[in-house]
Amino acid sequence: MHNAAIARLNLDYVYLPFLIAPESLAVGLAGFGAIGVVGFNVTIPHKQAILPLLTQVSPVAAAVGAVNTVQRLDCGWLGTNTDVEGFVAPLLSRERDWSRTVAVVLGNGGAARAVVAGCSQLGCAEIYVVGRNRERLAAFLQGWDRPIVDKLRVCTWDELSSLIPQAGLLVNATDMGMGTKIDQSPVDVAVMRLLPPGAIAYDLIYNPSPTKFLQAAKELGFEAIDGSEMLVQQGAAALKLWLQLPSVPVDVMRQALLNHLEARQ
Ligand code: NAP
Repeated sequence: MHNAAIARLNLDYVYLPFLIAPESLAVGLAGFGAIGVVGFNVTIPHKQAILPLLTQVSPVAAAVGAVNTVQRLDCGWLGTNTDVEGFVAPLLSRERDWSRTVAVVLGNGGAARAVVAGCSQLGCAEIYVVGRNRERLAAFLQGWDRPIVDKLRVCTWDELSSLIPQAGLLVNATDMGMGTKIDQSPVDVAVMRLLPPGAIAYDLIYNPSPTKFLQAAKELGFEAIDGSEMLVQQGAAALKLWLQLPSVPVDVMRQALLNHLEARQ
C-alpha cells in the first residue's frame, strides 16, 4: 500500500521488507543511516528494543512504550507510534459520547498498549484490559502517565462476563481469530450477547475479515469494525512523516490493501 501511494505521488522511493535479527538491530539501523533511508517501520520483536537506539522518541511512543515508525532526523532517528492514530481513525467518524463509554480491551500485548492510548485520546470513561497472566497484567500497568493511569484497570478473563454489560467498546487485541487460531474467538457468543445496546466490537485482526469474534457481534446486531482501516491509517500516518507531506492518497493505500487481501483468499 505504501508503494501504491508512492507511485500515485510520482515519487522516487520504495518501501521494502528487511528481516533483521534482534542482535543485528543496531547495525541494521546504522546501515539504514548509511544508505540514506528516510524512514521505516518496525514490528515484533523490535518495537520496544529500538527505543534506546533512537535519538528522540515522540510523546505518543513514550506513552505507549513502543515504536512502530522511525523517521530520519538531520542527526539520528525519531521514533513514534502511528498505531494509536490508526486505531482511533475509524472510531472518530462514529457519533458517540466517548466520555460515557467504557472500553474493554482483550489481550495485554503490544497492540493493546496502543489501543489503551487510543481509548484515552478518545476520552473513554474507563479502560479495562483483560489478560491471562497476572505478572504481565501488573507489568502492563507500568509506565503510563495521567490521565491514563487513573482510568486504566487490569483484570483476568474470569471477570470478563461482569465487565461486558458496561462495555460500549469491546476490542480484540489478541491474535485469537487469525493464523493457527483462525477458529477461535476471545469471547463466547453467550457472553457477547450481554453487551449493551449500541456497543461496538472492534477486532484488530484484518485477515480474515470478519473473524469469528466480529461475525458473532454482527449476528447479534452490534457494530463491527475490523483491523484493515487501522492498518491503512497507521501506514498513511507513517508515510506522511517520511515524505514530509500534509497528506497522502489514503484511498489508493486502502485499495492496494484490499487487492492484496483478496488475492490471498
Ligand atoms: P502480542 O504482543 O503477541 O499480544 C497478543 C496478546 O494475545 C497477548 O496479550 C496474549 O496473552 C493474548 N493471547 C494470545 N492467545 C491467547 C489465548 N488463547 N487466551 C488469552 N489470551 C491470548 O501481539 P500484538 O502485537 O499485541 O498483536 C495482537 C493482535 O493485533 C494481532 O492479531 C495483530 O495482528 C493485531 N494487530 C493489528 C494491527 C492493525 O494495524 N490492524 C496492528 C497491530 C496489531 P499473553 O500476554 O498472556 O500471552
